[in-house]
Amino acid sequence: AKHDGRNTFRFFAQEMQEHSLRSLQLSIALKEALTNDQFHLVYQPQMSLSNNSMVGAEALLRWEHPEWGTVSPAEFIPLAEQSGLIVQIGEWVIQQVAQQQKSWLERGLPEVIIAVNLSALQFHQPDLVETITSLVRKAGVVPENIEVELTEAVALKDPEVAGTTIDALSRAGFKVSIDDFGTGYSSMSYLKKFAVHKLKIDQSFIKDIVTDIDDQAIVTAIIQMAHSLHKTTIAEGVETQEQLDFLRKKGCEEMQGYWYSRPLVTEQFEQFLKSHELQ
Ligand code: C2E
Ligand code: CA
Ligand code: CA
Ligand code: CA
Repeated sequence: AKHDGRNTFRFFAQEMQEHSLRSLQLSIALKEALTNDQFHLVYQPQMSLSNNSMVGAEALLRWEHPEWGTVSPAEFIPLAEQSGLIVQIGEWVIQQVAQQQKSWLERGLPEVIIAVNLSALQFHQPDLVETITSLVRKAGVVPENIEVELTEAVALKDPEVAGTTIDALSRAGFKVSIDDFGTGYSSMSYLKKFAVHKLKIDQSFIKDIVTDIDDQAIVTAIIQMAHSLHKTTIAEGVETQEQLDFLRKKGCEEMQGYWYSRPLVTEQFEQFLKSHELQ
């Protein structure tokens, strides 16, 4: 009702203030998160739809704050991006993954490709390829076992520049996948030019795929397009057998989601590695 207008506004303004206060507090705390050892990685398995074997896993960042508990990456990654801290954090992630892979190697666990998320700012660092290649090699592992995920939004913003960096990453041995695919209205023409290995179909299209005919049409088109360009597709956020059945029927190669496994802490993921067949 009209007479609620002012109160609604006051409520909104107060909410905004609380929101920015928390953002400010988080931004300050983030600066010490790395040195205070508050970050860790969890690993979510990715599986092949043709033979039920594991094809890799995505490393996802977790922040445990002593007072606030677990802070979601959806909340703190944008803040780290704003302050520039994401570059250091992103390098920590790659180093952590490489050291973890080295430790698995030494302990006789199977080799597994681990995907890491690259933020926009990190992706645009002029020395990105040299920096991460040297981090990986210093840990005693190879870029071939690391996949970098770049969102479609980042890849689209300046396709020429992105294409050059993607090719450099690929030449250095890294695998490259496009994250949140389908949300950025990519055209086939630029995709064809990129040395991209895999398209990750955004989970927003998977959510209602069993009932929503528009989502069905989009996902079907993405899979067909990917195949005509000789790229692999992986569906994100798969939670049910029905979603899986649809994707398999359409020829999607891989999936990642709660249906198969939630993201796992290192010890759980190691158990998983020991007991599951790898492709
Ligand atoms: P993303 O890269 O799209 O990662 C997938 C997100 O979906 C993860 O959320 C994952 O836990 C969640 N997920 C996986 N399977 C399912 C499912 O079946 N159902 C549902 N509802 N969700 C599922 P998470 O871990 O909270 O990460 C959120 C976002 O934060 C990521 O989205 C990514 O954009 C960002 N992020 C996480 N770790 C890093 C990192 O190390 N570096 C950077 N730059 N960004 C990161
Ligand atoms: Ca991702
Ligand atoms: Ca994604
Ligand atoms: Ca996302």
